[in-house]
Amino acid sequence: MAEIILETKGLTKSYPMSGGKELSVLEDITIQVREGEFVSILGPSGAGKSTLLRILVGLTTPSKGEILYHGIPLTKAQPKIAMVFQSFALFPWLTVLENVELGLKSYGFTDPAAKEKSVKMLDVVGLDGFEDAYPRELSGGMRQRVGIARALVIEPEILFMDEPFSALDILTAENLRGELTDLWLKKEMPIKSIIFVTHNIEEAAFLAGRAIILSHNPGRVKADVFIDLPHERDKNSRDFKYTVDRIFTILTKPAKEVPFLLEKERYQFLPHGKVGAIAGLIELVHDKGDRVDISVLASDLSMEVDDIFPLIEAAGFLGFGEIREGDFIITDKGGEFSEADTLMKKDLFRDTALHNIQLLKQIMQVLQSTSKRRMTEDFFIDVLENHFTTEEAWNQLETAIDWGRYAELFAYDYDSGELYLE
Ligand code: ADP
Repeated sequence: MAEIILETKGLTKSYPMSGGKELSVLEDITIQVREGEFVSILGPSGAGKSTLLRILVGLTTPSKGEILYHGIPLTKAQPKIAMVFQSFALFPWLTVLENVELGLKSYGFTDPAAKEKSVKMLDVVGLDGFEDAYPRELSGGMRQRVGIARALVIEPEILFMDEPFSALDILTAENLRGELTDLWLKKEMPIKSIIFVTHNIEEAAFLAGRAIILSHNPGRVKADVFIDLPHERDKNSRDFKYTVDRIFTILTKPAKEVPFLLEKERYQFLPHGKVGAIAGLIELVHDKGDRVDISVLASDLSMEVDDIFPLIEAAGFLGFGEIREGDFIITDKGGEFSEADTLMKKDLFRDTALHNIQLLKQIMQVLQSTSKRRMTEDFFIDVLENHFTTEEAWNQLETAIDWGRYAELFAYDYDSGELYLE
């Protein structure tokens, strides 16, 4: 596992109020951030997100608790950190270049190469040619690019961003998000980690690999969820919508229900792959010697990795394949399946599916326990909606029906929308 760069232990912050009372803003915040992580801190307005960020960078002192950088308390450490704010906070009388250079100077950096570094960083954020412009001559998006360049030029280890795109129009914000992702993925920024505060769920789901969700009044860590999406995120994809939905549910549920929600999360997610396609892929890789590089396989098939990935995952669930170091490997069971005739294939598939696929097991239990040995699909959708969005519930059921019919576990009546045992 990557090294922990930043850690907080039991951070608490309260402000004195009139009448000797205290306003508790943050309570018992204990988090760890590792090298390579893009973490978003999400929460409703007033949850204490900005306060937490200000404490992490040392602008505000906590009432209780500790902040450690590489295991050393912030009071003793000199972490290399930089912050990008919502308001661009540029000096109007300085040029773009001077504003960026000031970032270096304020950090005590007097290297003659300061100018060169600043010019280079402006280039990285797409402001090549605007060095001598004044902030008033720039659009909001360009001003925020200057803000980002100013933060990056000191080559911070962690970049803190406090709602940096929320003051921009939708399109500009969208563009900058895309560019930030590119810079991060291509490792063009001299940083190891980003901590990004936002109240915008889509923004967090688009950018981050992890969302720390704060509850409100007082701000506590309600959930810490990994956002398990491919790097290039498609906002229209089912998985993206599902992630947004899941974060939304956590944000809006009372804190005491969240552990239960996360528990339910673990319901097995069936990758959407039709049996025919899964079997075809297994046979193809078996013919190629049981091991292929996944990206090579995708390009050989003129497909995107994202398109074959559900099939590979499905093969994994069924015990027919596994992923190791970017390769897809066919197991002995997968080899046996590849070489079997049609009837034998169905037998092998039935055995492994009943053993490994939770939803198929449940469907069988339900069908076997009803006197008519039939059940409407709506019944299963109702059950699945406890774990998935409505759209995903249908996808899950559709996949299970495809697999179940292939394995001849049950049949499906298209007219009545019922599953039944033959
Ligand atoms: P968020 O960034 O999540 O919107 P903030 O961190 O800005 O939330 O604020 C959290 C709470 O702390 C708010 O209720 C705010 O009024 C209060 N607060 C923030 N700073 C101070 C301060 N200096 N004095 C008193 N209350 C404050």
